[in-house]
Amino acid sequence: MLEVRKVRKSYDDRLVVNDISFEVPAGEIFALLGPNGAGKTTLIRMITDITRPDAGEIVMDGASLRGAERARIAYLPEERGLYRKQSVLEVLSYYGELKGLTPRDSRTQSVALLEEFGLAAWAKKQIQQLSKGMQQKVQLCTALIGDPKLMILDEPFSGLDPVNVALLEDVLDKRRQKGTTVLLSTHQINKVEQLCDRCLMINKGFMVLYGTVKDIRRQHGEHAAHVTGRQLPASAPGIDRIERVSDALGTDRAGDEYRVVLGRMTQPSEALRALVQAGAAIDAFQMAHPPLEQIFVSVANSGTGLDQGRSGGLRVDESDEAERVLGGVR
Ligand code: ATP
Repeated sequence: MLEVRKVRKSYDDRLVVNDISFEVPAGEIFALLGPNGAGKTTLIRMITDITRPDAGEIVMDGASLRGAERARIAYLPEERGLYRKQSVLEVLSYYGELKGLTPRDSRTQSVALLEEFGLAAWAKKQIQQLSKGMQQKVQLCTALIGDPKLMILDEPFSGLDPVNVALLEDVLDKRRQKGTTVLLSTHQINKVEQLCDRCLMINKGFMVLYGTVKDIRRQHGEHAAHVTGRQLPASAPGIDRIERVSDALGTDRAGDEYRVVLGRMTQPSEALRALVQAGAAIDAFQMAHPPLEQIFVSVANSGTGLDQGRSGGLRVDESDEAERVLGGVR
């Protein structure tokens, strides 16, 4: 439903967003990642029509983002502030009216949101009487009021304790199920792995990663498998190295955990077959995938971009070979 097509922006002759293109279907939680200064906020400002792109196009449901469509986008910026002397309910109702709700509907939705976020008892308190985390939850309510089609949330988890992080995750999941699209910009990469279907990573204004979180992790893994089993041979055709994980880690712990490094051209299914044919009893076989955070650091340091055709940044859409193999084994 959101389509960003070859969007570009320069400041003072310096290109800060360079030909970025991506799509976010309705009902998806999509992550926008990138190191500091990568161009994320600039991109978000263009999506929210705060800044105009120099080139390219941004459309939602096929229409330009001006006018009525713009009103269905909620933006929670990283730098935020609320009117400190007004009550929680007044502030929230005001935001609802800004989004086109009648005063009555706005108040009704405000009360429902405050209940959902566990803030009903604070409705009549001044904003300045609330703790930082509570104010953050009110900010989130200002983004949610008016049932936006697209929510753009910049670091929405900052300042929240683990209980409230879980609450927000639950709220986002419910909205996703109702068809709301969420564009999440965060440096908390574990949250991206947990919540997001797909992500885009930009670096120095260039696209460097784009795809499902699962595929990106698979694509960037070393070509190795974690194997649990017994009687593993010292070597097998198509396999470069088999090492017991406890040995590899330099401990004495006896175990049946192995790291199996596959030959460059070897498919996981071939490696698994070779192990079984060599007499190994396999309990589990899974391709090793590094955490997204590790990929983020390595891609950010390599400074490469998808569009330059250099290595490091990749569009990933490979089939899930290891899953297929495991399915056969199970
Ligand atoms: P962070 O994670 O630190 O918030 P970001 O990815 O959001 O970073 P942007 O704020 O989009 O990065 O900034 C990208 C680049 O554009 C930076 O080099 C920044 O200095 C520059 N920039 C952003 N806004 C302006 C502006 N209004 N005028 C000039 N340069 C700008």
